Amino acid sequence: MKTVGLLGGMSWESTQVYYRLLNQGVNRALGKLHSASILLASVDFEPLQRAQHRDDWDTVRRILVPAAQQLEGAGAGCLLLASNTMHRVAPTLQEALGIPLLHVVDAVGAALAQAGIRKVGLLGTAFTMEQPFYRQRLVDHFGQTVITPDADDRAWLHGVIFDELCRGVVSERSKTRLGEVIERLGKAGAEGVILGCTEIGMLVDDGEAALPLFDTTVLHAEHAVAWCLGDP
Ligand code: GLU
Repeated sequence: MKTVGLLGGMSWESTQVYYRLLNQGVNRALGKLHSASILLASVDFEPLQRAQHRDDWDTVRRILVPAAQQLEGAGAGCLLLASNTMHRVAPTLQEALGIPLLHVVDAVGAALAQAGIRKVGLLGTAFTMEQPFYRQRLVDHFGQTVITPDADDRAWLHGVIFDELCRGVVSERSKTRLGEVIERLGKAGAEGVILGCTEIGMLVDDGEAALPLFDTTVLHAEHAVAWCLGDP
């Protein structure tokens, strides 16, 4: 089994979900008491989220590149970046490393293709929904048409991610509104919805959504499990 380098803490609420899913995935495949081989670098999120919000991606790079290199130096065979938003700096991380970064969009894009989805709703932080780095890869590599909620819903969701989910707060009010946002995406023609933020899964109860959901935390972890157990 190969070793995954998990770069987390963004937020740690979802990193613990990655940790569980990686171990469960390996155990499901190998049985007995098998579990995943993981190296974890978990960063302090506060300076990172401040840099994101002042559009200072150089500071983000300055913090994340050494953390990723630490994982490589310690023996990780790949990098799993446990935040959709932080894939904004994925090209820099990949350039700084000799190991592959398993890109979250590749994990979700493959699942969308398998499900026959061509037009998809994208939910995430404002950075993920509004900047090109994420949606463009879905368009260019997977031929998706990507739609997002309207400005009000986007601002609301961004606030919920940082003010509630990243602090471990899951409220019924936010669950209800997220359900409504998903319904509106369906009315706008989405055939499925990407939960393109590693914490959004905390807000959705399985099987209750109006559309098929593609939870990036689950898909990214599954992608990494397949990589771990694949050819050396
Ligand atoms: N975990 C989040 C994501 O998947 C948001 C936190 C961040 O901005 O990194 O986008």
